[in-house]
Amino acid sequence: MFKVNDNYLKLPGSYLFSTIAKKVKEYKETNPDKDVISLGIGDVTRPLAPAIIESLHKAVDEMAVKETFKGYAPDLGYEFLRSAIVKNDFEARGAKISIDEIFVSDGAKSDSGNIQEIFSSDNKIAVCDPVYPVYVDTNAMAGRTGTYNKETELWTNVIYMPCKAENNFAPEFPVETPDIIYLCFPNNPTGATIPKTELQKWVDYANEVKAVIIYDAAYEAYISEDNVAHTIYECEGARTCAIELRSFSKNAGFTGTRLGYTVVPKDLKDENGTMLNSLWARRHGTKFNGAPYIIQRAGEAVYSEEGKRQTREQIAYYMNNAKIIKERLAKAGYSVSGGVNAPYIWLATPEGMSSWDFFDYLLTNANVVGTPGSGFGPSGEGYFRLTAFGTYENTVEALKRIEKM
Ligand SMILES: *Cc1c(COP(=O)(O)O)cnc(C)c1O
Repeated sequence: MFKVNDNYLKLPGSYLFSTIAKKVKEYKETNPDKDVISLGIGDVTRPLAPAIIESLHKAVDEMAVKETFKGYAPDLGYEFLRSAIVKNDFEARGAKISIDEIFVSDGAKSDSGNIQEIFSSDNKIAVCDPVYPVYVDTNAMAGRTGTYNKETELWTNVIYMPCKAENNFAPEFPVETPDIIYLCFPNNPTGATIPKTELQKWVDYANEVKAVIIYDAAYEAYISEDNVAHTIYECEGARTCAIELRSFSKNAGFTGTRLGYTVVPKDLKDENGTMLNSLWARRHGTKFNGAPYIIQRAGEAVYSEEGKRQTREQIAYYMNNAKIIKERLAKAGYSVSGGVNAPYIWLATPEGMSSWDFFDYLLTNANVVGTPGSGFGPSGEGYFRLTAFGTYENTVEALKRIEKM
């Protein structure tokens, strides 16, 4: 008789967003006349930019012609896209990354979940709390996290770095030394960033203790402040300690079309000199058959002059929503953070209210849906996430209702 991977059985129960969906559905069923606005889920709403659509159409047409038809894509990505990435995302920032350090994929969720495969099963991970759930859950599936304690909502074998108002939502060096450190800036869910000088300290720390930083830069395009690094490779020494995850989902609206990439520098080696770049190439080549040609052409268009201008406009649209949410909540007396370098606003729930109580309160009194902070980890308790990904009209209407509560 087969046996299941019982690491899966250790995973905590219901998934945050399905719980939210269920609650909203129930509310709508009992209150069919109510217009519910969602500022909850982290998905874009603006259609793909014209330059991207044009490139998609062209690539689709190429697929219909014998001479230009494409079969399997190179498993690490087409050179036209990888060179556009190197030029625009790294060279333009003064960071030294070469084409063979770029691995094109179908998005950062799968890469952030799969990257742990190239590390030993007894490596210990450190994560921020609250955190994007994929990092911990995929390590749990791999049996690296010990057991889940229902009381504390923490895994016994994970190092947690609480991010709260007291530390400006910035992690502090853990007491216990980790092997793998997950960092995400601009952060989902808190919307927080750290200055480049602080990120440099993490790079120095990782090099000193010989840990790897897995740096999730999915929200890089939302950075508005000059002192925040757009890539970890702006920091000195990052090539020997950092892997970076990037996505076309939030900067260009590819959540439905799927495209991302991971950077693994060739200077990143274990104590025996084994290059993580070779291991990831092996993994990618074995388990992944390449992102679609037409989507990689769409990705290339993101880096064209029109593509850059049009995607910048979309981000400006979302960030205008973020500004409205943040300013009006602050005016209404809420304690708010984020929303400056990220499309997420992180608010402290009014006195004593739990994250889920505030969820219910907001849903029933304002018909607005957000995300309970506690769903991202115990240090998120007492916080609530609102996203700027809605329409301007809905955002303004939602704020009007919240102000009236
Ligand atoms: C949205 C998001 C991603 C990107 O996921 P894709 O699979 O590329 O759509 C990665 N990391 C974080 C923290 C995110 O919020």
